[in-house]
Amino acid sequence: PYVGPTADQILRKRNEFLSPSMFYFYKKPLNLVHGKMQYLFDESGRRYLDAFGGIATVCCGHCHPDVVQAIVKQTNNLQHSTILYLNHAIADFAEALASKLPGDLKVVFFTNSGTEANELAMMIARLYTGCHDIISLRNAYHGNAAGTMGATAQSNWKFNVVQSGVHHAVNPDPYRGIFGSDGEQYAKDIEDLIQFGTSGRVAAFISEAIQGVGGIVELAPGYMPAAYSSVKKAGGICIADEVQSGFARTGSHFWGFEAHGVVPDIVTMAKGIGNGIPLGAVVTTPEIAQVLTQRSYFNTFGGNPVCTAAGLAALRVIEKEKLQDNAHAVGSYLKGRLNTLKDKHEIIGDVRGRGLMLGVELVTDRQLKTPAKVEILHVMEQMKDNGVLIGKGGFYGNVFRVTPPLCFTKEDADFLVDVMDYAISNT
Ligand code: PMP
Repeated sequence: PYVGPTADQILRKRNEFLSPSMFYFYKKPLNLVHGKMQYLFDESGRRYLDAFGGIATVCCGHCHPDVVQAIVKQTNNLQHSTILYLNHAIADFAEALASKLPGDLKVVFFTNSGTEANELAMMIARLYTGCHDIISLRNAYHGNAAGTMGATAQSNWKFNVVQSGVHHAVNPDPYRGIFGSDGEQYAKDIEDLIQFGTSGRVAAFISEAIQGVGGIVELAPGYMPAAYSSVKKAGGICIADEVQSGFARTGSHFWGFEAHGVVPDIVTMAKGIGNGIPLGAVVTTPEIAQVLTQRSYFNTFGGNPVCTAAGLAALRVIEKEKLQDNAHAVGSYLKGRLNTLKDKHEIIGDVRGRGLMLGVELVTDRQLKTPAKVEILHVMEQMKDNGVLIGKGGFYGNVFRVTPPLCFTKEDADFLVDVMDYAISNT
């Protein structure tokens, strides 16, 4: 049994010694002390089904034994910076990662986070093209440092500091967007931004395939090919942010962009890459990667032996346990059940997503699509009380995000939907 400090004691310390910007879920935040596969345990030993996977950071399952063993083994052997000397862990993982990407995407730069990966990708694009202008989508989240906060396009996550050279295109959102599911119509805005907002030449277009923080918005079909084509015509390169949608999560494909039939010039990743260990990566072509030889470029801990050993172990688990197939099968089943729940409850305005990256948008009026901002908090609180931890997001904070560890089972899916049904019925 757990013998450490209580939730109240931790909260008091946190309020006194940690940044006031840190936020938490639930009126009384949970003190989690243990994780095992798709389950989390609080200080009293109570078990919760984790339908949010630490914000999609856990693919293989909490404390997956293979990943833990790889971390412990490497920690006992050597932990070090990645610069100056050789070590096999970083090279082995780079090779394995490159084998999962299409075309000429073969050169890997490791970072410590998704923000760092996107910052680097944007800098590479600017160096390669000699242009400054970048296009990102409204409602996107790409990180919280200078450049990536510019690319992020939700006022919730933007501070009033200089964010230069990013233009935000109309979001191809099938539920709330003006053109419904007609991706090509939305993509015309990219042409307009290039013609009216830039010199006619741009550095890059960056987007998620399914917006995570933005509330699981899957880009309308046909959008990505049209957008990529316009950006390429303007001399720009295309960056796919796979921080949430990568690593088999979408089930049908290993990477989110693959469902859209495009091949990016740069792919960025983090979160699931290390099954919860801080790690990020930028993967690009040998030609584009050359720009970084103009100056010395390094990242002290990016791709360090312990984190890359974890990454390689996680990738092997995804393959060995066929987690992509599981994400596809369980995700499709879960989406079906959530759609049935939508027929029963007026408050569910939309069910969307792919594989184990699903969204359930709550609205108080289906016609007006009025965000059910308060109601969602009640449902979420009750789901927690009944043993299910679910995520929440979207610009209005009214979308449930379901991004569990990929070992989630059909029984887990049933439990999640039954608990959601009960919680909504009691709201
Ligand atoms: N891109 C996407 C799509 C993300 O969801 C996030 C994190 N929510 C980031 C980038 C930034 O990653 P990190 O928090 O690791 O810096």
